[in-house]
Amino acid sequence: MLDVGFVGVGGTRPGHGEEATCFVINGCILIDVGFNAAVNMQALEVSPADIDHVLFTHCHHDHVLGLPGLLFARNNRAVERPEAPPIQLHGPQDLTPVLSATLAMLQADRYPQVVPEYQVHHVYPGECIEVGDLRIDVGRAFHPLDARCYRFTDTVTRGSLVISGDTAYHEGLVDFARDCDVLIHEAAGDPEAESVDMRYLHSRPQDAARVAMEASASTLALVHYPPAKGAAVLTKAKQVFPNARLARKGQRVQVLGPGQAAWV
Ligand SMILES: [Zn+2]
Ligand SMILES: [Zn+2]
Repeated sequence: MLDVGFVGVGGTRPGHGEEATCFVINGCILIDVGFNAAVNMQALEVSPADIDHVLFTHCHHDHVLGLPGLLFARNNRAVERPEAPPIQLHGPQDLTPVLSATLAMLQADRYPQVVPEYQVHHVYPGECIEVGDLRIDVGRAFHPLDARCYRFTDTVTRGSLVISGDTAYHEGLVDFARDCDVLIHEAAGDPEAESVDMRYLHSRPQDAARVAMEASASTLALVHYPPAKGAAVLTKAKQVFPNARLARKGQRVQVLGPGQAAWV
């Protein structure tokens, strides 16, 4: 089974009670690290001590700022899982300077005991990561810096899930998301804008819906949208792809098998 918990669905300026877009898959894989992910994931009954893998889509601030807090919290709670393996950090090469800054933030030279064991993996489009029964394919996103998208396949049930990362529309993503059961796509672009702002390379909801439609996805879940524009975001998306919905902070979706998604 693929179980996705939405730790946050917001953008670069999350307000009170909100969180930047990040998710927990199957209780142990975190996709991006929002501002306060180590705290907010606990609303989904996931402890920072449970996180064995972090997959970064890219290293813009709203996707990495919670990393010092996550590492600190995971180590603080190591007593919950004394046998926990080193935390595996996967992402583009920009992850290396982010990790250096994270270690500086944690004052690792002075307090080495606060940093859990970790391993860093630079991942590239076309590669595949295996975690238990999950196959995770790495794809390319179209964003102003090196960015990834990820496709999860449960090799037992064959259910599949694609996470767009931050990206403007591109045909490669349509191929990457082909026939997936749930497409989690960003919608940070202004739904009323005539076209995509090429400085920022985000998707409007209608662009996300176009990917879902062209890829023949079963369900589209929108994230990274401006909360004040939620109704307009959903309307624009549904005009292109009717089976679209806004993901909400604290929600879960379970992919039980091909074509079978259950929202909790
Ligand atoms: Zn970004
Ligand atoms: Zn972002």
